[in-house]
Amino acid sequence: MRRGISYSHCGIFASYAEQGPIISWVADHRRHHAYADRGGDPHSPWRFGTSARALAKGFWHAHMGWLFQREQTNATRFAPDLLADPDIQRVNRWFPALTAVSLLAPAVAGGLITWSWWGALTAFFWAGLVRVAVLHHVTWSVNSICHMIGDRPFTARDKSANFWPLALLSMGESWHNSHHADPTCARHGVQRGQIDISARLIRIFEKLGWATKVRWPRPERLARRLKTAARTS
Ligand SMILES: [Zn+2]
Ligand SMILES: [Zn+2]
Repeated sequence: MRRGISYSHCGIFASYAEQGPIISWVADHRRHHAYADRGGDPHSPWRFGTSARALAKGFWHAHMGWLFQREQTNATRFAPDLLADPDIQRVNRWFPALTAVSLLAPAVAGGLITWSWWGALTAFFWAGLVRVAVLHHVTWSVNSICHMIGDRPFTARDKSANFWPLALLSMGESWHNSHHADPTCARHGVQRGQIDISARLIRIFEKLGWATKVRWPRPERLARRLKTAARTS
């Protein structure tokens, strides 16, 4: 029997994205789903109200403000399974080292390929700093824009929305209304023509035997969650 990629392997690659140690990332994410757009959500743009001023403040808070004034999510409550896993604990502790690798590896590669300090510096800038900055803004946009603007074809308890302009850059994450309607489903772009690169990648991993027990969209589940009047914004 072939073994799938373990959570800890995924955690190592996820840590290269530099979005925090895996246990707090997962705890924040689960808390977001548990309380989306209600009190307790770590990053809802609706936190301060619905006036233009409150939404401007809320946008900033959901986009990146919450990272600076955050109360720590209780990992014992939201991620006890990860806390109980020694491999995940190790990946969690490695986060600073993995961050360093993620920033320095492109610099080393650039330096070796061009055999120059200038190559190392420009690779560090573009493949290190700029990559991380762009990635973060895309992720943060899912938290801010995708809880404010877009189509809401599915019933969800929150304000999550599908925002097509971010579909490619976010690799499918911006089909966020679908994600909140069915969070354990591996494909977010579940409607016709919705590109979802992450789902494609998971499918390839599944074919290779690296990903197992993947939950794909089921027509009857989708139909149950679909609104009869197909859109609001
Ligand atoms: Zn989610
Ligand atoms: Zn969300």
